Parts: sequence; C-alpha cells; structure tokens
Amino acid sequence: MDIQKINTEYEKASAVAFLQWALKNFGASKITVASSFGAEDVVLIDILMKLDPSVRIFTLDTGRLNEETYQVMDRIRSKYKINIESYFPDRQKVEALEKQKGFFSFRDSIDNRKECCAIRKVEPLQRALKGFEAWVTGLRRDQAVTRSGVSKIEVDAANGGIFKLNPLADWSNDDVWAYIRKNEVPYNKLHDAGYPSIGCEPCTRAVKAGEDIRAGRWWWENPEHKECGLHLPKK
Ligand code: SF4
Repeated sequence: MDIQKINTEYEKASAVAFLQWALKNFGASKITVASSFGAEDVVLIDILMKLDPSVRIFTLDTGRLNEETYQVMDRIRSKYKINIESYFPDRQKVEALEKQKGFFSFRDSIDNRKECCAIRKVEPLQRALKGFEAWVTGLRRDQAVTRSGVSKIEVDAANGGIFKLNPLADWSNDDVWAYIRKNEVPYNKLHDAGYPSIGCEPCTRAVKAGEDIRAGRWWWENPEHKECGLHLPKK
C-alpha cells in the first residue's frame, strides 16, 4: 500500500470520507477503535457507528481510571447499543509492581512511569490489536509537541506493522467540540471540570486557562516525554 499517496489524497478529505475509504479497503472486521473515551474518541465512535456498527471498540482498563470514564463508557454503550471490549493488564505484573514499588511509583521517575504504562497500557494494547490490520485513534496534531507530525495513515512499527489511522489528525479542539454538540454525542463529564485530556486518575488533572491541553497529563514531566507508549512519535 502506498501510504504517502493515500495521505496526500485524504489530507484534505473529511474524517467520514477517510473512514469510508478505510472500511472499504480493510473491511469492518479488520479495523478496531482504541478508545479512552476522551472527546476525540467519542467523535470517532459516533462517526463509525453511523458508517458501520459492526466495527469493534476496545478500551484499556488500567485499573486506575476515573469513575466519570466508566460513566461515559456506559452512556456510549447504551446510546449505540454496542459492546465495549475491555482489556486489563496482566494481573501478575500489576501485583508484582505494586508489591515492589507501591501504588504511586510512576511519580518517582520517568522510567517508573513508563514501566507502569507498559504494564497497564502497552502490553494490553498489543493483545487488543492481535488479528487486526488497522486501528483507529483520535490523535490530533495540535494536541502536543509529540503529535505534530501525525499523518492520517501510518505504519505502526511498534505494533507488528499494522496500520494506524488518525482521521482527526487535522482537526482542532473546536472542531471536536462542535461535532460533539451538533451530534449530541455523550462525553466524559471531566471535560466540563477543566480536563481537556483524560487518562488514568492519578496521572491526570484539570488545567488552568491558557495552559497547554496536555498540561494536565503527567504534569511533573517535560512535554517531550508525555506519551505513554501507545503513540510514540515517528522517528
Ligand atoms: S497513566 Fe499513570 S497510572 Fe496510568 S498506566 Fe500510565 S503511569 Fe500508570
């Protein structure tokens, strides 16, 4: 597949047109959506459920999520009448981590934080993607310095060379919220409390006016480190 050509062709196309192409090219059974049920993810779910409700949606239940995240998952589940597939971390690895390093080791160093993300997110993601040819994400270029080079379609070398589809790569935050409001898409109530980006409860906080939208994620780290290993920048 010539991804450069596809990126050129679909750079200015709508997210709907790009996802229609993806469904036709890969087939609905070979695409999955990775959802943490943040604003971008609920937009993608709404678009995809209208295009083809058989597309599978999974989430990484790290064991450290906010109650509001479970609430929006339930509202999405009811509205679209879909099953959400939860992937949990390996029990023995979590037990060993907490036994050896306690419950907040991710605050002690970047290595410890990456270790926790590797156990709670990266390994379950690898399991979730098995058997699929492409996964859909809500990455946008203006979310973070680590995401400025995101393309609509990429080869995900970290996940067996399957394709990563980022239909919202060129969307702004305003585009996302205009879509949510227009289409009455259920969203995580933490967004109303000043959380632009929502991950695990102990690693996410609200941001103040004027702060970067990723400022509330791992706020004790520098911006260039703020990825959990699910979306590493292209080399
Ligand atoms: S975001 Fe925090 S709690 Fe969640 S997996 Fe990463 S380090 Fe662990």
